[in-house]
Amino acid sequence: MSTIDGETLTVGTATAAPGEVARGGIPAGDLAGGVKVEIPVVVINGAGPGPTFWVNAAIHGDEPEGPLACMLAQKEIDPAALKGAVVMVPCLNPLAFSAAERGNPLDTFTYDMNRVYPGKPNGYFTDRLADAHWQAMKDVADIEISIHSGGAHSFLDKAIFVDERPESVELAKAMGEGWGCIMSNFSKTGSPMAALNGAGKTGITVELGGRSATSPERFRWVGEELAKSIVNICYHYGMLDGQATYPDPCYKGVQEALLAPASGIFLPEPGVQFLTMMNKGDRIATIVNIFGDEMAALHAPADGMFFGLRALPNVNLGDWCCFFNKVEGLRD
Ligand SMILES: [Zn+2]
Repeated sequence: MSTIDGETLTVGTATAAPGEVARGGIPAGDLAGGVKVEIPVVVINGAGPGPTFWVNAAIHGDEPEGPLACMLAQKEIDPAALKGAVVMVPCLNPLAFSAAERGNPLDTFTYDMNRVYPGKPNGYFTDRLADAHWQAMKDVADIEISIHSGGAHSFLDKAIFVDERPESVELAKAMGEGWGCIMSNFSKTGSPMAALNGAGKTGITVELGGRSATSPERFRWVGEELAKSIVNICYHYGMLDGQATYPDPCYKGVQEALLAPASGIFLPEPGVQFLTMMNKGDRIATIVNIFGDEMAALHAPADGMFFGLRALPNVNLGDWCCFFNKVEGLRD
């Protein structure tokens, strides 16, 4: 990892001297109505030397948990005590966020930024937005987390995707206590973690929250859990003084998405629990028709645990229902 030491750090229009915090934006073009688009950024430049930890949130616009986590974590990070730098991008896809949609509704060709990242400078609008962000991040970030949630369609409990390199697993474990569902579904393209991997750096994708956890108390809880993890990562890498926690147990596995085999009303089985080991074949949920007749059941496809369930009980054939971690074993 590189070390930032006594240098001014500039990202987009935000310039912070050592021991300072600066806000600004990464310019990303204008729209037809004259609206200037920029990606908001917060640079916390520590007074002491250390690595640069980059936090990305809301690459999907229906995932407000990451922005909340950034604003809560920022209150806990004193730049005078920080070694290295923390760069926060609380809203990577501002037009999608403004519409509360997964992607930017003005761009139907490259709607999902987390499938086209790092984009291209001469591509569709979302490609260009991704490229502007990538150009700002690629030489600055040493380690990166991208915060996601279940968005409009689901709730996801604490889950992480890594590329299985030791440094990637180390960063995942640094998310702290309770983050033991660590899976190795690694796509070589399309996401910030993939782009950073290609550049020889370390990024991970983390998931917590979603539509069925947006009541006031639950939304706050999700934001606080994620903020704790941001600070825990600073502890782990010696960027802040404090005792890091780690997940125990810590599982290795791969995800499988379970889709609805029938239409109707989705009813999770009473007593089933997120992030709790179950046996292959155990029932997770039942789909009933409007009269209450059972139309189909969802069962665990392997020994493992589910970490995501759909938010809306109304379900149509082929709809996404459950994210399952097919557990292969424990991590060291
Ligand atoms: Zn997402």
